[in-house]
Amino acid sequence: MRTALALAAAISLSFAGTAAWAQNAQAPAPAATAAKCENPNALGVARVVEIDTTGGPGFGFEHFKAYDFLQDHEVVLTFDDGPWPGHTPAVLKALADQCTKALFFPIGKHAGWHPEILKRVVAAGHTVGSHTWSHKDLSRLTAQEATDEIEKGIAAVSIATGNKPIAPFFRFPALRHPPEMVKYLGDRNVGIFSTDLDSFDFKMRKPDQVVKSVMAKLAKQGKGIVLMHDFQQATAGAAPELLKELKDGGYKVVQITGKTPTEPKKEYVDMVLKEMGGGLDEARPMSSVIKTIQSN
Ligand SMILES: [Zn+2]
Repeated sequence: MRTALALAAAISLSFAGTAAWAQNAQAPAPAATAAKCENPNALGVARVVEIDTTGGPGFGFEHFKAYDFLQDHEVVLTFDDGPWPGHTPAVLKALADQCTKALFFPIGKHAGWHPEILKRVVAAGHTVGSHTWSHKDLSRLTAQEATDEIEKGIAAVSIATGNKPIAPFFRFPALRHPPEMVKYLGDRNVGIFSTDLDSFDFKMRKPDQVVKSVMAKLAKQGKGIVLMHDFQQATAGAAPELLKELKDGGYKVVQITGKTPTEPKKEYVDMVLKEMGGGLDEARPMSSVIKTIQSN
């Protein structure tokens, strides 16, 4: 009972049906749905879920069992460790071709190196949370060091996406979550995403291994938050076939959005700008600044 009430309080569901149409008639269409889908057989987005992250609720049955909000055959696609040249754009293209949306957990340093790619993720209407500054195992750090990793990650993603607040979601590197940092994120009103279904794509070199891994686990579990990495080459290669098989298998994508975005803390914005040499927000695409003119 307590779970059901908490669930209702934490998550409001907006079904992509007639009710949502009625709502959309009143309000301007959100950017995420503004682009017209050219693919009549697209996987698409079955419903959009808005999460109220007050108190830092946790999701993903591997660690957090309070909120079982997915129905049978529903999946949430999550991609970690980007943005990365080549791989992240390939994932974005596969998602766009299927008119579907995912939840990204970029690494702060990678966001600083490739802000132009992360801006494309946001512009495509995906949800972008954070995944620490440098992907350290927070369970091996002091509370202050772990806090710095979390806050610098939030600040870097914010700066890279044009000094905007970010989605209020966080994933711990290697899913290692020390209790004091779970509490910290709770006080910060940031929701924690673990996983229902770990693809272990980072151990795979061939795209078809990633497709098989995810589809086999989904066949067993029936639904779930799927953990993948847009950083990984095999996953970038797997994305088109995986999305096609999800569609053919009758799976439905649930898009996650946050009710209240997370603002970066100013001292950490300053820290990140200093560390990255400043000017990230106005950075030109790296390819237009630096290019290899000779390699041996
Ligand atoms: Zn990671």
